[in-house]
Amino acid sequence: MKARTRVAPSPTGDPHVGTAYMALFSYCYAKKTGGEFILRIEDTDAERSTPESEATILDSLRWLGLDWDEGPDVEGPHGPYRQSERSDIYGQYAERLIADGHAFRCFCTRERLAEVRASQMKAGETTRYDGHCINISTDDAAALMAAGEACVVRMKIPEEGVCTVKDELRGDIEIAWSQVDMQVLLKADGNPTYHLAVVVDDHLMEITDIIRGEEWISSAPKHILLYEYLGWPMPKLVHMPLLRNPDKSKLSKRKNPTSIGYYKAMGFLPEALLNYLGMLGWSMPDGEEKFTLDEMIENFDLSRISLGAPVFDVDKLSWLNGRWLRETLDDGQFADRVTEWALNRDNLLKIIPLVKERVDVFSQLAPMISFFAEGMPELSPESLKVKNVEEEDVKKILQFSLWRLEAQILWERDPLNQLFVDLAESLGLKLRDVLAPIFVAISGKPVAPPLFDSMAILGPDICRARLRHAVSVLGGVSKKQVKRLEKEYKEL
Ligand code: GLU
Repeated sequence: MKARTRVAPSPTGDPHVGTAYMALFSYCYAKKTGGEFILRIEDTDAERSTPESEATILDSLRWLGLDWDEGPDVEGPHGPYRQSERSDIYGQYAERLIADGHAFRCFCTRERLAEVRASQMKAGETTRYDGHCINISTDDAAALMAAGEACVVRMKIPEEGVCTVKDELRGDIEIAWSQVDMQVLLKADGNPTYHLAVVVDDHLMEITDIIRGEEWISSAPKHILLYEYLGWPMPKLVHMPLLRNPDKSKLSKRKNPTSIGYYKAMGFLPEALLNYLGMLGWSMPDGEEKFTLDEMIENFDLSRISLGAPVFDVDKLSWLNGRWLRETLDDGQFADRVTEWALNRDNLLKIIPLVKERVDVFSQLAPMISFFAEGMPELSPESLKVKNVEEEDVKKILQFSLWRLEAQILWERDPLNQLFVDLAESLGLKLRDVLAPIFVAISGKPVAPPLFDSMAILGPDICRARLRHAVSVLGGVSKKQVKRLEKEYKEL
C-alpha cells in the first residue's frame, strides 16, 4: 500500500535538526512505497509562530533535498497546508464531539484551574482537570455563553482502564487513562489546540503513517480516543527516538548547534547531513555508513531502526562530510559547490560595498573578508578583553547579547543596531564597550567591516554560534551562573 506521511513543524524558531530527522524518515518511508510526503505547518500557537520561521524551515528542508509532494507552497488536493488557514475546519469537529457526548464546554477560570492544580500537587496526585464542568447541560452552557462567559471545549476521558498505544517500533505501550488529562481541544478564542488540529488534519489529509518524536507518546491516548470518537481509522504510529547530545541529554543548542541553517552556513553538504541523520538509529543492511538518499529509500525498513538513544555528534558528522567531499565531488564539482556556498556573486555583492572604500588592491581583500567564509574564529581570552571592563562583565555582555539575538526575528542591520543600543542602555554601559567583544566574537578581529551589516550577511545561525563560542573561550557559564545571569537578564 502506498503510504502518505507528513512532517508537521511548528514555525516557532530555527529549523531544528530534529525536524529534518523526522522529515527524512517520513520521506523515506513514503517513497519506499511510492507514496507521498506532505509538509504541514502547525501554527496554532499564533503568538509564537512567525512567517520568518516558516520560511527558514521550508528553505532548510528544501536545501536538504526533502521535497514534499503537498505543502503550503505547492498546494494539493488536501490544502490548505497551514493550520492557521484551516481555522474554520476544526470547530465543526469540536461541535460534533460535544453533540455526541464526547466533549464538553468548560467555563472554569484560570484561577480555579490554578487552585485545583496546586491542591493536586500538594496531595502528590497527577495534575489534571477535575471534571468540574463535565455535566453542565446544553441549556446552561448556552445561557453562560450568551451571558458572555468565556469557555473552552475539553474532551472526555474514560475514568478507568488503560489505553494501548500500538507503536510500530515499540509494540504495545499501555497508558492508564487516569494519567491522561481532559485535554482542551478548542481554546476560548475558538482556535484549536495541537491535539484537535493534528487529528483532524492527519485524517483529512489521509495520512496513513504518523512518524514523529517519542516525546509525543504520552499524547497518543488522546489522539487514539479522538479517532475513535470521530469514527475514523487510526493511522499507524511510529515514535522515533529523540536525538541526544554526546552526554545523552536531549539535543540542545547549549551543547550542540541544533539549527539546520548553522550546518549550511558552516559549509556542510546537505547530502552529508542527510546521510548522517540517516545513520542515527538506522543502518544500511551492509553496514556501509556513507549512503545517498536514494540508497536509503531503497533499503528503508522500519525494522532497521534501533531504539537506543542516537547521539548527534558533530565530529562524526564532520568526518562523514569529509568523506563526501573527497569521495563524491570531483574538483570541478568541489569548485562549484564552494562557490555556491559562500563565494557566490550574491554574497560578494553584499560584502563589496562594506569593504570597497578600504581596499586599494584585491590582495587586501582576503584577510578583511575571510571571516565571512569561516567557522568559529580563533579567539583567546585576551583577544576578548575590553579596557576597564572586568572579564566577568565581558562574559555577561556576550551572554546577554546572545539571549537577545536568540529572540531576534528580523535579522537586518538597523534592528540589530537597535538591539545593542537598547542592551547597552539597560546595562548602563557605553555602546562602544558592549560592541567591542561582539566585534571580536563575530569577526575574530577588533577592526572589521561594519558590524551590523556583517552580522546581517552572516545570518543568525553563525552569529549566535560565534557568540556562544566566545562565551566558551572565556570559560563558559556554569549552570549556577546561568541561573544568576538569567535572573539579572529578566530584570533588565
Ligand atoms: N507540531 C508538532 C511539532 O512541532 C508535530 C508533532 C506531530 O508530528 O504530531 O513537533
